[in-house]
Amino acid sequence: MKDMFINPAELTGQTEQHISYVAEHIGVHNLLVVPLQQMQQAALADGISIDIASGFRSFARQQVIFDRKMQGQTNVLDINNQVVDLTNLAIDEQIKSILLYSALPGASRHHWGTDIDVYSKSLMAGKPLALEAWEYEDNGPMAALTQWLDNNMQRFGFYRPYDKFRGGVACEPWHLSYAPLSAMFAQQYNQELLADCINASDLTAKEHILTMLDTIYTQYITNVGSL
Ligand SMILES: [Zn+2]
Repeated sequence: MKDMFINPAELTGQTEQHISYVAEHIGVHNLLVVPLQQMQQAALADGISIDIASGFRSFARQQVIFDRKMQGQTNVLDINNQVVDLTNLAIDEQIKSILLYSALPGASRHHWGTDIDVYSKSLMAGKPLALEAWEYEDNGPMAALTQWLDNNMQRFGFYRPYDKFRGGVACEPWHLSYAPLSAMFAQQYNQELLADCINASDLTAKEHILTMLDTIYTQYITNVGSL
């Protein structure tokens, strides 16, 4: 793909000009629509449906998710999917606990439209999906999807940036990234534009987050796998 300029608003989820909607509430980058369809069709030919649980997410949407966790309105889970009691933790640790599964607003790869959370509706047999790692492992309901992706996604340009726990974001086997686009986004993204966008927001614990930004940037944002 030819190099392109990506503006800070696209990098931090403050515009939808780079997004096309492929289903109700499911947006992806304009240039991901075709490659995604090609992979979905190839999977379908092998009997696997690739459905999207989450695509593009705006800064505002990510802020709702983050603020609710910061304010104790949504449960925060640890790496073993146990509920964390945030009231026992110092604010640094509260923030880090949230970042295990929820990106800092302005720093979600879902802002880019290049990254999607996938599952297979047909493999769920009507049961709800928790979006937990065990579901994608050998004996989980998504095992056949995982296996198909392991064998095929790379030739369509996809990989898993959260393929394993690296001390930052948890292992997220459902989260795929379209490398031809996301590599360009990652290259143009930087800590300064994140700081600017946090500064301009009314994010909960914003002042504290800004003091931790060096750590957050290296531990949770650039600390990912590659193709
Ligand atoms: Zn995701």
